[in-house]
Amino acid sequence: MQIAKHKVASIHYTLTDNNGKVLDSSSGREPLHYIQGIGNLIPGMEEGLEGKKQGDKVNLKVSPEKGYGVKDDKMVQRVPRSAFGGGEIKKGMQFQTDHGQVVTVTEVGLNEITVDANHPLAGVELNFTVEVISIREATEDELAHGHVHGPGGHHH
Ligand code: ZN
Repeated sequence: MQIAKHKVASIHYTLTDNNGKVLDSSSGREPLHYIQGIGNLIPGMEEGLEGKKQGDKVNLKVSPEKGYGVKDDKMVQRVPRSAFGGGEIKKGMQFQTDHGQVVTVTEVGLNEITVDANHPLAGVELNFTVEVISIREATEDELAHGHVHGPGGHHH
């Protein structure tokens, strides 16, 4: 069986940036279970894994456009410190806005705080090493819900 649309694939992966720094990895955890072709993974991963078989090991280089998007400068904003209500603000802190958007503090000024609403991996070229552990058909329930059920997936 090959990875194709509506197949459930289980993969082990390690994600590094271009400096070789590990950003994420399934090593030492359950493999990642996902449904191919419905947007569970970023487009670059789905494209790179299409047609792969159990046991295949793949190196994928994913551009920001096919990863977490390019950085949008309009999503970086300066906000008056007073908007944060007087608590201590540090670089790297994350807040949720009234609209449910997660922003990260990137600069702390005396009167103004700079926050960035881009995904932390926006604009980053991603390097994945992936090992295909198993492939199976998705069930009707899984396709209806858009996610994998059972071990390692959702339990309802
Ligand atoms: Zn479900």
